[in-house]
Amino acid sequence: MDKPFPGAAQWARRGASLSELAKALAECRGCDLAENGSRPVFGAGPHDARVMIVGEQPGDIEERRGQPFVGPAGKLLDRALEQAGIDRDQVWVTNSVLHFKFTQSAPTKRRIHQTPDADQVAACKPWLQGQLNRLRPELVIVLGATAAKSLLGPTFRVTRERGTLIPGPPGSGAQLIASIHPSAVLRGSEEERDNMFDGLVNDLRVAASALDKRL
Ligand code: SF4
Repeated sequence: MDKPFPGAAQWARRGASLSELAKALAECRGCDLAENGSRPVFGAGPHDARVMIVGEQPGDIEERRGQPFVGPAGKLLDRALEQAGIDRDQVWVTNSVLHFKFTQSAPTKRRIHQTPDADQVAACKPWLQGQLNRLRPELVIVLGATAAKSLLGPTFRVTRERGTLIPGPPGSGAQLIASIHPSAVLRGSEEERDNMFDGLVNDLRVAASALDKRL
């Protein structure tokens, strides 16, 4: 049997500030993704953000630029947030897994996304928890199954429970809402894409209205 991953806890120190966490991230050897030649991407946004958005992992463009949600899925998310009335500048965006997991196809060497395994997600959780503890957002929006499972456990089903406000992770004091990942919209067929995008916007509107009520 393979040795279990050590997990990120020894690098994502409890009580560390966001800046300290961001600095320590480069040293993380919490799972095998540390060895794939990519660099980890920390969350981004204002330190007093009311909303924290959690996706799956950085993609090719995010890894190159060192910022989350700046590739095609990020641009689609920007549009969806705008239509829902949520200002992205008031949002902290991050991922469940902070390294980019990919396979590389010869001869182009293009890096192709691979979904992280449950043990890689679990290994990376201390980084997510550290950001959550520091930011104390009012609302957490999880996008896609990987983020939902990281924060809500393996039985949570985005397709069944999306668009509904529920209590956030224990001790966070936040509310939480789940929706599909914007990359799922991009992967949808031409006929599906508009409906999927509208569905994402509708879920984000529920989030926006919950924020309005808390003002
Ligand atoms: S994926 Fe997460 S736990 Fe694994 S090495 Fe990268 S930062 Fe550490």
